[in-house]
Amino acid sequence: MKIVDLIVPCYNEEETLPSFFQETQKVLTELSDYHFHYIFIDDGSKDKTLLHLQALSKNYEEIDYLSFSRNFGKEAAMYAGLRHSTGDYVIIMDADLQHPPAMIPQMLTAMEEGYDCCSARRTSRKGESFIRSAFSRSFYHITNRISSTKMAYGAVDFRIMSRAMIDSILQLSEVERFSKGIFSWVGYQTKWLPYENIERVAGTSKWSFWGLFKYAIDGITAFSVVPLHLLSAMGILISLVAFIYILITLAQTLIFGVSVPGYTTTLCTVLFLGGIMELSIGILGQYIARIYMETKNRPVYIVQRSSFPKNSHYKANFFLE
Ligand code: UDP
Ligand code: MG
Repeated sequence: MKIVDLIVPCYNEEETLPSFFQETQKVLTELSDYHFHYIFIDDGSKDKTLLHLQALSKNYEEIDYLSFSRNFGKEAAMYAGLRHSTGDYVIIMDADLQHPPAMIPQMLTAMEEGYDCCSARRTSRKGESFIRSAFSRSFYHITNRISSTKMAYGAVDFRIMSRAMIDSILQLSEVERFSKGIFSWVGYQTKWLPYENIERVAGTSKWSFWGLFKYAIDGITAFSVVPLHLLSAMGILISLVAFIYILITLAQTLIFGVSVPGYTTTLCTVLFLGGIMELSIGILGQYIARIYMETKNRPVYIVQRSSFPKNSHYKANFFLE
């Protein structure tokens, strides 16, 4: 019988956990050909999420949890889940039921058809503000233009993956992880399942506008150095224009003598070049910041409590964290 791990990152999800578990169990009990194993990750929740998880894990043999020492973010939570997974397949899903468990049977079918990955893709962004979806659309447009790693528009972190694909993902050792890009970068055949966006059952989304903006910048700098190439191209172009302008000015001075007026030209040039310079330093800074964070080589997450040692065959890397 194939083992399927379900990785569920939870940050302040006490309100959604009971219905999540109930709804998911309804679907899983119908699938008798597989053995399911939950790995909940409590990402430093400030509510009673951990107590819920501890109770669940005590009552059900197939439930394990990891609890971080603070909030490390969903990326870290997913990574921790993957590192602790040992199953033949792994499913990653949100705890707020925005990822319908009813799609799990279809996902498993795709795996049996020979795919290494099957992922859900939103066809609508119902319940999301216009500005948020506009920004999101332009993010995908820009990244896909400048990066060779293509990210699917509307792809969500609800997916099933084979052991082979997970082992490849775990080989990517970067500390600042951008999963949407990593999933695409490792390759493998992915089947896309469209679905309608659903609003979360309870609680609120943890994403702020600035949080998403920073996420977008991370996504671009993590998978493309094209902005740096653009800077070089811009530098060459501006130098060329400046050189031609210098020649013209020199010729004018030599032929017609020194002309004092030129205040506007000087001011415009100084301001324009100043602006370009600031922008270039800013872009460079984004990349240096990434190098800085990577060289520190800090752990991606710190596990404070966990149910793992209880089942000897799920030892994983718990003691190394
Ligand atoms: N999440 C997490 N750590 C965080 C933020 C979110 O583990 O710092 C989890 C959260 O509990 C949920 C999933 O990631 O299961 C998606 O979060 P959310 O619903 O807030 O995001 P959205 O659906 O709005 O993109
Ligand atoms: Mg959500």
